Amino acid sequence: MIRQLLGSLTLALISLAEAEELQVMKVANNSYAIVGPLIDRSSENFGNNATFGFVVSDQGVLLIDSGGSWKGADQIHKAIRTVTNKPVTKVVNTGGQDHRWFENDYFVQQGAELISSSNTQADQKAREAQQVDRITHLIGDAYQGTKPTYAKTLLDSNTTIAFGDRSVQFIPVGHTHTPGENFVWLPDVSVLYTGDTVFVDRMLGVAPQSQHLTWIEAFDLIESLNPKVIVPGHGAPTTLEKAKADSLNYLTFLRNKVGELIEEGGDMQSVSSIDQSAFNYLKVYEEIHGRNAQRVFEEMEWE
Ligand SMILES: [Zn+2]
Repeated sequence: MIRQLLGSLTLALISLAEAEELQVMKVANNSYAIVGPLIDRSSENFGNNATFGFVVSDQGVLLIDSGGSWKGADQIHKAIRTVTNKPVTKVVNTGGQDHRWFENDYFVQQGAELISSSNTQADQKAREAQQVDRITHLIGDAYQGTKPTYAKTLLDSNTTIAFGDRSVQFIPVGHTHTPGENFVWLPDVSVLYTGDTVFVDRMLGVAPQSQHLTWIEAFDLIESLNPKVIVPGHGAPTTLEKAKADSLNYLTFLRNKVGELIEEGGDMQSVSSIDQSAFNYLKVYEEIHGRNAQRVFEEMEWE
């Protein structure tokens, strides 16, 4: 009997270890964040190395971002199931990055409507092949069954999404981490889901598809909404203050430092002399801080 019990305990531990858990956090009444790991995509996290969210109404569940793979979407669905058995009836894609939309199809099969913007979709189409290559390289067999699918409902201005007894606003933001980023704003509880415009706890990535100046400007919009809670694209639910400290202040810092170097006649190599250690408390600092400065330099050279 005891041996049997030990056997099943060991099994439970193994299945926990196989998948890196997603953490469900309540941020307001019927409003949740699903927080994934801060590291890169891996076979253990199914490409869900990001923060997702969901909103519950009398009509079902509205999911914010669908995960990086079929397994990832299934993991998100199970996380939702720990809170409610209501069906996922709507999925909003906040951006074009793989973990925002790759397994939309999982929820379409359950009858969900997919919502995004034209700019997001243009980016998804432009970078799909490249992103499939990258994620299959990083997560291997865990990618099996994934079928990237585009949203049918495209909203290109601020729109209130009809969603039962909840007030949900879709806000296209423009070019930040990717060319078509969107917010989901819940005015009734003052919660803002920002997707990849806000990173906390880990260093944001200024990627080839990013645009740092309009990214900085997007924080004016966030400040004007003055949210009580921000659910970022990476990291735990947070305050406006911390979102600014970890994302806006870092982008502004890079812009100022790179700008000084350019004025002094510095070249691309010289950006490695920028002391970024004020931000070394952010995860993946070592991996990406040098590249971030180079990307900002590449953009500023042409200003
Ligand atoms: Zn992301």
